[in-house]
Amino acid sequence: MSGEIASPASAFAGFQPAGWTECPICEYSLKGLPAVHACPECGFRYDTNTRIWIAEPRKKQPSDARVVIFIPLTVIGFLAVRWAGPILGVILYLILLLLVGAIIKLDDRRRSAHPWSPPLIGIGVEVIFHRCSKGKVRIWPLQDIKDVRQLISSDGDVLCLELKDDRSRMLKNSFRSSKAMQAFVDTAKARLAGFQGGHESSNRD
Ligand SMILES: [Zn+2]
Repeated sequence: MSGEIASPASAFAGFQPAGWTECPICEYSLKGLPAVHACPECGFRYDTNTRIWIAEPRKKQPSDARVVIFIPLTVIGFLAVRWAGPILGVILYLILLLLVGAIIKLDDRRRSAHPWSPPLIGIGVEVIFHRCSKGKVRIWPLQDIKDVRQLISSDGDVLCLELKDDRSRMLKNSFRSSKAMQAFVDTAKARLAGFQGGHESSNRD
């Protein structure tokens, strides 16, 4: 079925164009797995042609920004020592550090309880899939899709999936930009043409 076999050396390097490294269906980390494989958690099949577009830019890891908080804390420490004397100042400063540490710890717990999952859309081995911000995933097999189109509208572009049973699916707010949607449409059209032209066996490279 799959026309492509991974060379032993090729390791998964993230889905292009965003470099996404998690399973788009279940968010399992795919780091360290082969470049052509299936998600160990949900079975989602991917290859080196699998593409994923993220609707929102990935938020910065909190740990990077948190270092900044220690700059004002150090200033406060100095002021506390000057104002309350060395012993009381240091005690006040340590209490403040403990408080800040507790807040960071609580924040970590909240984040891990509600991991941030961005809306995304992508093209897999034989499917087009879409995950909304609430985590709901929809999957359309390529063999059921007739065409993919970008509809320009005044309140944001809409992606239209035309299905072979003459129904269609409209997806709004699924791309960061009109250009990203255009890239998706171009890729999807090429994949559909290749798929219809010989069920993946026409992989020339
Ligand atoms: Zn998965």
